[in-house]
Parts: sequence; C-alpha cells; structure tokens
Amino acid sequence: INMATIIDGKNIAKTIRDQIREDIIQFKKKYSGFKPHLSIIQVGSREDSAVYVRQKERACKEAGIEFSLQKKDEFITEQELIKSIRDLNDDLSTHGLLVQLPLPKHINESRVTENIDPKKDVDGFHPNNIGNLSKRNSDTLFLPCTPKGILELLKQIGIEISGKRAVVVGRSDIVGFPVFTLLSRNDATVTLCHSKTRNLPEIIKTADILVVAIGKAEYVKGDWIKPGAIVIDVGTNSIEDSTKKSGIRWVGDVEFSTASKVASHITPVPGGVGPMTVAMLLQNTVESAKRFLKENIER
Ligand code: NDP
Repeated sequence: INMATIIDGKNIAKTIRDQIREDIIQFKKKYSGFKPHLSIIQVGSREDSAVYVRQKERACKEAGIEFSLQKKDEFITEQELIKSIRDLNDDLSTHGLLVQLPLPKHINESRVTENIDPKKDVDGFHPNNIGNLSKRNSDTLFLPCTPKGILELLKQIGIEISGKRAVVVGRSDIVGFPVFTLLSRNDATVTLCHSKTRNLPEIIKTADILVVAIGKAEYVKGDWIKPGAIVIDVGTNSIEDSTKKSGIRWVGDVEFSTASKVASHITPVPGGVGPMTVAMLLQNTVESAKRFLKENIER
C-alpha cells in the first residue's frame, strides 16, 4: 500500500511567516514609518480563546508585527464592546482588527462583526467582504484565514484546481462555505455537503479534492475516499487518551489511519490546516498595512 504524502502545514506556515518577517524588514528600509499592527479584542476568559489569542500574539511578535490585546470583562454590554471597536476603527496605528469569537450569549456576533471597519477586517467576516467573495469578478479586501490557508496548501502541492471535482463537507460561515466559494472561483466543480446530505460516502467518493470541516472526530473513513484524492482535514477535535499526560489527543474529522492509505496527499491534525490559519492572519495584516500606506502616499 502506498502511503499518502503528508502535507506539512506547520512547515509551510513557518516558511510563510519567515517570508513575512523578511518582507516587513525590506519595506521598513523604504518606508521607516511602516509598522503593521494587529489589535485583538478578547471578551471573557474562555481557555480555548486564550490559547488562540496567545498563538496569534506570538506569531505577530516573531514576524515583527505590532500586537495589542484589549481584554474585556465577560459581562461587557454589546454597546460598550461596539464602542471599543469603533475606537480601534479610528485608531490610525491599527491596520488589522478582530474580535476573538465565540462571544458570550448576550452579545450578537453579527452586529459585532458588522461594526469592524471592512478595511481592517483581517478575519474576513464583515458582510461586505463575504459579499465580495461571493460575487463573481469582484475583489474582496480580505479572504477569511482558514479558507485562504487551505487554498495556499493546495497551491503548495502544485496541483491544478481547475476542472477538478471537489467536495466540501460543512457549510459554516468561517470555513465550509468560503472554501466552497474559493474552490469554485478557482474553477473546480464543487459539491457542498452538510448534516442533511444523503449518501455522504457516495458523494465523497467522487472527490479529487476533499475538504472536511464538520467538527466530528474521525467521522470520514478511508474507504469513502477516492484513491489518489487530496484530503484537507480542518477538524480539530479532542478525544480522551489515557496514554497521554494531558488525558486527551487531537484528531481531525477524517480517520487518518485509514485515509492516509488511500489518499495521495493528506493534512495531519495537528500540524495541517491550523498553523496556516495563523500565517494567513499575519499575511492579511501586512497586506492591510501596505494598503493604508499606499493610500497615505497617494493622498
Ligand atoms: P460548525 O459547527 O460551525 O459547522 C459544522 C458544519 O458541519 C455544519 O455545516 C454542519 O451541517 C456540518 N455537519 C455536522 N455534522 C455533519 C455530518 N455528520 N455530516 C455532514 N455534515 C455535518 O463548524 P466550523 O466550520 O466552525 O468548524 C468545523 C471544524 O473545523 C471544527 O472541528 C473546528 O474546530 C475546526 N476548525 C479548525 C480551524 C483551524 O484553523 N484548523 C478553524 C476553524 C474551525 P449543518 O449546516 O447542516 O448544521
């Protein structure tokens, strides 16, 4: 049996982050005032959110991107939160702004993302940016980070997307749906599946490119997959594992042990899509800073 090539997202992301750092150094030589800056607002003290925010902070610092964090009490009102967002929209030193999700139940996430300046929306969640992504022949200011990272991985493998059959499982706003759109924009023939899809294994079998983002541990089995397919596993699920000191282990939405015997390429969990998400956030922040700089020069 031929084992699939493992797509080393961690290493690819590292290369991209190094390129970003070098790019900032070079840009600063020409424009000494060039200081890409990401601001994050974090509400409450969810442990998972804290981990993600720390990862973003560390990555920014390593790449030479300024980072600031505003921590808000979990009982902050929606109005107060929106006020803080507007202040950062107006803050000339901030080029990228995001509110770490999820938010406490009493706050409406849509209203929060709608209040972020679309020109600083490095997560790509503002309706203007989502709308432009969905509209043919229009440019969006920011692609959402996980979908952008997935496309970057496909580019790195060097496969032609055009004309391929792709299946995306999961239709969330942050992963499945934008991946569907991006693959379609790249001329794949794409099928979007979700929890009401019938005969999922049969549809998955048609995929040259399979992207799974459902949040169900090891749900997709190797014998559902077309031999030679490229498998991108977005799922990040913790399962109990008494052999580990932490008592848990991370697995994807795809059963790696069986899928890696059928696929031609597959992303591991962890170390596949996850690190790409952070690298793309840095990329979006630097792109934004360049756009603001260009506008200032032209003004
Ligand atoms: P959501 O929970 O928002 O969406 C899940 C989607 O999967 C829904 O569209 C749902 O269908 C569909 N679904 C659920 N069960 C099934 C099933 N049995 N068969 C087919 N479809 C199903 O998840 P997210 O998109 O936010 O995240 C998905 C996974 O990706 C999670 O494990 C998450 O942790 C991970 N993730 C990883 C990231 C990274 O950087 N590595 C970034 C973001 C997410 P329906 O619409 O019908 O409800």
